[in-house]
Amino acid sequence: MDALAKYRNLLGDMGRYGSALRLLSWDQETHMPPKGIEARSEATGMLSRKRFELLVSDELARCLAELREADGLSEVERASVRHVGKEHSRNRAIPPALVEEKSAAEAQAQAAWAAARKASDFAAFLPHLEKMVGYARQFAEYYGYDEHPYDALLEDFEPGMTCRKLRAIIEPLRAELVPFLKKLVDEGTAPDASFLRGTYRVDEQRRLSRRALEVILYDFEAGGLADVAHPFTILIAPGDVRVTNRYVESDVLSGIFGALHEGGHALYNQGIPAELYRLGVAGGASNGIHESQSRMIENQVGRSLEFWNFFQPVLAEHFPQFGRVAPQALFAAANLVAPSFIRVDADEVTYNFHVMLRFEIEAGLIDGSIEAADLPELWNDAMKRYLGIVPPSDAQGVLQDVHWSVGAFGYFPSYMLGNLYAAQLYATMRDQVPHLDAAIGRGDLKPLVGWLRENVHRYGAMYEPQELMERITGHELDSAHFVRYVKEKYGAIYGCQTPSDS
Ligand code: ZN
Repeated sequence: MDALAKYRNLLGDMGRYGSALRLLSWDQETHMPPKGIEARSEATGMLSRKRFELLVSDELARCLAELREADGLSEVERASVRHVGKEHSRNRAIPPALVEEKSAAEAQAQAAWAAARKASDFAAFLPHLEKMVGYARQFAEYYGYDEHPYDALLEDFEPGMTCRKLRAIIEPLRAELVPFLKKLVDEGTAPDASFLRGTYRVDEQRRLSRRALEVILYDFEAGGLADVAHPFTILIAPGDVRVTNRYVESDVLSGIFGALHEGGHALYNQGIPAELYRLGVAGGASNGIHESQSRMIENQVGRSLEFWNFFQPVLAEHFPQFGRVAPQALFAAANLVAPSFIRVDADEVTYNFHVMLRFEIEAGLIDGSIEAADLPELWNDAMKRYLGIVPPSDAQGVLQDVHWSVGAFGYFPSYMLGNLYAAQLYATMRDQVPHLDAAIGRGDLKPLVGWLRENVHRYGAMYEPQELMERITGHELDSAHFVRYVKEKYGAIYGCQTPSDS
């Protein structure tokens, strides 16, 4: 058998193990009874080992070496060799014993974090956090880096991104956003959202979520919607991309925006061709690019006046009390800006500050300039600097996110990058698609989804994020698009535009 056929076979087996693992994990979050956890962990442990053995195998190494020299590969096949080759060598770089040790420590750290957050007891989590930082620093050394050990970790989430580049993105963004937020708060008029107070039946909210997903052209024949505590989207296999959502009785908007957010991720996965999946390049260009798709559907689309022009009657079909509410009022209420403690609840203007402060802390933990023990104090200082508020407890501060307990250092910047990519992609789309706003105002998302399919989705992980952005928009990531977007939108909503903003 030639190298390419052997390579495709190996990827096929890895793909099927991966698919089974994701199905088990989806079931674990949605349907599995609590007592099923022990047997489930054994099954997932065995399947992950099988997949991992193939990924780091000498057989795959030989195929990759041969294919790197081969002529006549298609563009997708060459992208696959680069992409899978990188995953192969990064995973081979870590001694297997260390991988096992870390995953055992991770399970304990995650349980300790959940208990510590509940009790708002940072000291109880500290020894676990120190351990996870230690592993991250060891992994960074094994992966290797040019400038900063954090760069080696960023690579898992945002290929090509570095500390230096992030600082160059963050500095001008912070310089624009800090005074803009102050101006909104001090001089602007916050929209009235009091009419949203009420109790909204969960079963009706669930039906409304399905409507929202239908509007954005999520394919229910190739997916489904389930309830969970922490919503996510999962690509089980081509033709099977599932979304999950959560509903809060007192908050009708959170279920809608949750559905739109996860639906944006799902559209990306549903738009990736099966051939890319078979060749292991179906995961999206990066976490940041994936997040750009969800944030665009949630914010640029879902929090626009055009969206509410057609969605207000849909909302009123499910909750008749909105029958006489103007779309403009819903649009404004969906765009309240207020400094808040919890990242996942943050509005578009303040969200990036939550990421900036986590990045400062993470980079310092990894290069050793920050001690884990000092985190609560550093966290509260940074909250004060960026948002002018200090959380009343560590549960609402340094303990709020799960990421550090599972050793995912380097993940947070993807959330900010997603916002920035979304604004830049959306600006390009508006230049290229005539009458985009009018189509959205009619509830017709075909032009929008068609553009995303053509320009973003169909490439999967074939290109790294910066290359993809250059191909689509003509230049690398530039936060000026995001700044222009929030200034125009929120300046108008808050009635505090100045000539210099336009
Ligand atoms: Zn997301």
